[in-house]
Amino acid sequence: MRRMVAGNWKMNMLADGAAQLAGELRRGAGEPGCELLVCPPATVLAAVAHALLGSVCQVGAQDCHAEASGAHTGDLAAPMLRDAGATHVILGHSERRANHGETDAMVLAKVRAATRAGLVPVVCVGETLAEREGGWAESVVAGQLAGSLPHGFGQSGMAGLVAYEPVWAIGTGRTPTEADIAAMHAAIRHRVGPSVRILYGGSVKPGNAAAILALPEVGGALVGGASLDARSFLAIAAACPA
Ligand code: PEP
Repeated sequence: MRRMVAGNWKMNMLADGAAQLAGELRRGAGEPGCELLVCPPATVLAAVAHALLGSVCQVGAQDCHAEASGAHTGDLAAPMLRDAGATHVILGHSERRANHGETDAMVLAKVRAATRAGLVPVVCVGETLAEREGGWAESVVAGQLAGSLPHGFGQSGMAGLVAYEPVWAIGTGRTPTEADIAAMHAAIRHRVGPSVRILYGGSVKPGNAAAILALPEVGGALVGGASLDARSFLAIAAACPA
């Protein structure tokens, strides 16, 4: 399965910076040995999609509403994101679960909405440090998968990816051991079946990408901080095994 390296720009980038980064990605990407995806904030999504049109780099959103339209001030519906040029959408990121109270049931409704709109959901799961230290990491992630993924997720007619992102590794410079990443990816594979790509996310950098991306069942990376620099992001992509 071809790996994917996806960048989550989070709440960063004004128009000028986004245009510059998109231009650097377009010029620098070459012929990567993996799929590339960038997920800018919604304000610059259409501009970034336009700047990357016809390039190897796909564009995604960072969240969507569960309804297709209606009285939801400030929210964005999946068809709007598709209309703006998105092909994918990150759902259930731990920052949304923690800061916006998103439950598995809410994530599931968003996954269904994204699929209906023709977007490929990238569904994030991952344990907190207390859960890992308590020995519950796998059962927490299993519960999130059971609650967030619809039946048939990732099978024909319902494309989708899972991103395993330990909460304590996001933006901290800390990563699980390679053995722990491999064990969690094997556990996720057991639950989602053979056709779903499973990305690892959490402090992926050019210096650790090759080792992580070579682990069994790691189908790519979801990259936060390092995706804001074209050279770092493309170096991570270049670290994908052929
Ligand atoms: C993320 O937020 O999805 C993420 C993985 O961030 P970082 O790479 O900065 O840890």
